Amino acid sequence: MYYAAESYPSPGYPVKDPCLSFWLQNTRSSSLVGHRTTESLPPSVDVVIIGSGLSGAATAYYLLTGLNSPKSVLMLEAREACDGATGRNGGHCRPYVFQGYHEYKKIFGKEEALKIIAFDMANLHLMTELIEKEQIDCDFWLGESFETCLDQEAADKKLDSYQAFKEDGGPIEGVVKMTTDSDEAKRLTRMRNAVLTASFPAASLFPYKLVSHLLQLCISKFGLNLQTHTPVTAVGTSAQTITKADAQWIITTPRGKVMANKVVFATNAYTATLLPEFLGNIVPGQGQCAAIVPTPSYSGKGMMDKTCCYSWGKDNFDYLIQRPKDGIIILGGGKDSSPSPGAILGCTNDSGRPGEGGKQAEITEYFKSAMDKYFGGWHAPNSDQSGDSLRSGEGFLYDWTGIMGFTRDNIPFVGNVEGKPGAYVIAGHCGHGMARIASCAKGLAMLISGGSWSDTNLPESFRPTKKRMRQTSQTTKNNEEN
Ligand SMILES: Cc1cc2nc3c(=O)[nH]c(=O)nc-3n(C[C@H](O)[C@H](O)[C@H](O)COP(=O)(O)OP(=O)(O)OC[C@H]3O[C@@H](n4cnc5c(N)ncnc54)[C@H](O)[C@@H]3O)c2cc1C
Repeated sequence: MYYAAESYPSPGYPVKDPCLSFWLQNTRSSSLVGHRTTESLPPSVDVVIIGSGLSGAATAYYLLTGLNSPKSVLMLEAREACDGATGRNGGHCRPYVFQGYHEYKKIFGKEEALKIIAFDMANLHLMTELIEKEQIDCDFWLGESFETCLDQEAADKKLDSYQAFKEDGGPIEGVVKMTTDSDEAKRLTRMRNAVLTASFPAASLFPYKLVSHLLQLCISKFGLNLQTHTPVTAVGTSAQTITKADAQWIITTPRGKVMANKVVFATNAYTATLLPEFLGNIVPGQGQCAAIVPTPSYSGKGMMDKTCCYSWGKDNFDYLIQRPKDGIIILGGGKDSSPSPGAILGCTNDSGRPGEGGKQAEITEYFKSAMDKYFGGWHAPNSDQSGDSLRSGEGFLYDWTGIMGFTRDNIPFVGNVEGKPGAYVIAGHCGHGMARIASCAKGLAMLISGGSWSDTNLPESFRPTKKRMRQTSQTTKNNEEN
């Protein structure tokens, strides 16, 4: 994906009237709503974390439960807790197991590409371990996911990646089951046009419940101070300290200033507002998801036993999970049906209102018919229902939007911001954060606590180096010239 860095203005701040996702609609009784651990802001702390999505929450958790944990951690959030992309995503924790390998290899070479793919699977294990250890009630389901291609163009692309991964020694045995027989792929996936499918381990969960549990644990047991509705408007340092290893950061909010030894930007799509060097390096982009009540043939014993992502053409795809707890299907994607895909990239409006820069009515319409379009027997009468019409309350329930942070090389920025001692970033998750953030946060917490990069297990390519930022800007220029 290439775009002109100069054409993206500062993302600004999260809009003031965000819509409620399926997850947020169902957690209005949370004690975190409007939470402020202390009435006013502390004048100084060891670490300030900006942002309370999964990146902020997991970083706080690993910092406060790890070695050399800081004495005081303050989290500043512009909105309610977990009210950004994490609170409005697809609930899919689904690693890349071979998908994307080909592209990563072209950019980073074989060794690094293998490391990036392996990192996702390690994250799935870490998420499982974390949820079990802390007994987090977040509707966590661990099973498998289908990667299904609906035409030959998409199938050829996936097979290229699969073959390259296999030839380079990537772990396929016992992890990926590839089916290239289209009849078998159709039978397995129940998808009318399946050309091939591959299955592999993946999970689904209720993202808000995961994050709110982590935050509540950090507040009640480890002394985290969470301040919602406190946007950070500037982060600076006095001229005397910027060159020192122990710079004192000044964090400005409408409620006052806080001094901190270290500051973590867990601000995903909005990072460039506070760190202008990320302008064009992390670009916001809107996503849309829907909750769908299944028909009888996809309920009860007919529920899907795997999550899935299905693709067609050059790069069109949707993804879905079916929640074991209530059968609700969460479907995301639909970009192919957007008349103005350009409005999606660069957009920071997650108010959910239709209209310019808002929720796209065409995607909403697409969600209403997507299950029937792709999945065989969606309307099949296995009860007393007949014909094509859905019962009242069945099918499309609601849809919403959220804002992601995209990078040009399709990997996040994690680590110390080069040239800014004490400033760390964990952002730019490219719509794939649930599959990576826990491991990124664990690694970042080690760095913040004084560990070395090699302790973190983070792929070298994730580092927010000046060179990486220059390179991606250069890639843009070259592509514009070509
Ligand atoms: C519609 C949609 C569907 C998705 N589906 C999936 C999926 O199924 N699987 C998957 O892996 N990923 C998915 N993603 C991506 C995933 O949600 C993100 O990668 C992940 O949640 C990013 O987490 P985060 O904590 O870094 O960012 P966020 O959750 O966006 O958190 C950033 C926080 O920073 C706050 N903030 C920003 N600026 C400031 C400031 N100046 N001061 C104070 N606070 C500030 C924001 O309010 C926000 O709460 C989806 C995203 C969307 C939008």
